[in-house]
Amino acid sequence: MPFDRDDQGRWQLGREGGHYCARIVHAGGDASGRELVAALARAADGASHIERYEGWMLEALHLDAGAVSGVRLRGCRGQGMREIEASDVVMATGGIGALFAATTNPPGADGAGLALALLAGAAARDLEFVQFHPTALDVPGMSPLPLVTEALRGAGAVLVDEGGARLMPLCIHWRTWHPATLSRAGSGRTSRPVAGPGWTPRC
Ligand SMILES: Cc1cc2nc3c(=O)[nH]c(=O)nc-3n(C[C@H](O)[C@H](O)[C@H](O)COP(=O)(O)OP(=O)(O)OC[C@H]3O[C@@H](n4cnc5c(N)ncnc54)[C@H](O)[C@@H]3O)c2cc1C
Repeated sequence: MPFDRDDQGRWQLGREGGHYCARIVHAGGDASGRELVAALARAADGASHIERYEGWMLEALHLDAGAVSGVRLRGCRGQGMREIEASDVVMATGGIGALFAATTNPPGADGAGLALALLAGAAARDLEFVQFHPTALDVPGMSPLPLVTEALRGAGAVLVDEGGARLMPLCIHWRTWHPATLSRAGSGRTSRPVAGPGWTPRC
C-alpha cells in the first residue's frame, strides 16, 4: 500500500494524541482507512484462492451436530439470499461501538456478528473493552458523530472540560490514564485507568 511521501521520498510522518514523536503514516492525506481497505480489496480480488462477496450481509450461521457448517447471506441491494457450506467459519465483523448513543463508529459496528457467533455457541471474552475515540464533534441528531482527528492533539491541541480546565494536564497522568478511554457520560466526562503504574508512555 503506498503511503504519502515528501519531496525526498521519505514517509510523511505525523503525530497523534499523546505521541512524543512523529510516527504516523498516512495515505491519500486523511483518507488512510479508505486507502487501506481499497488496497486489501485489490489484493483479495487478485488472489485466485479468494472469492469476495461485497454487499452481502451475514444473516445466519448454520449448525450441524453442534458445529458451524455454513452461512446464510442476504444481499444488501435486494439480491435475495445465498447459502454457503463451510467447514470452518472465521468471524471478523468488528466491534460494538455503534451501540452507544454518541459514537464515531459506523452503523454496521452494532455487534450483529458477535450475536450470531454467541447464538452458535462461540465463547466470547473481553467484551467490556470498547475503545472510544476521545474527540468528536457534538452535532445534535447526527449519528455517527464526525470524528475530530487525533492529529489535532498531536499538533498541540488540548482536551478541556466545560469550564475550560485541562483534562490531562500533567505528564504523571499519562502513566495511569490513556486518552483513548476518555468518554462522555451524561453531562460529565469520565475516564478510566487502563494500565498500572508501571506503564510508561512511548512514541
Ligand atoms: C472513525 C474511526 C476512526 C478510526 N481511526 C483509526 C486510526 O486512525 N488508526 C487505527 O489504528 N484505528 C482506527 N480506528 C479503529 C479501526 O478502524 C478498528 O480498530 C478496525 O477497523 C477494526 O477492524 P476489524 O476488522 O476488527 O473490524 P471492522 O474494520 O469494523 O470490519 C468489520 C466489517 O464487518 C462488516 N460486518 C459487520 N457485521 C456484518 C454482517 N452481519 N455481515 C457482513 N459483514 C458484516 C462491517 O460492515 C465491516 O466491514 C478508527 C475507527 C473509527 C470508527
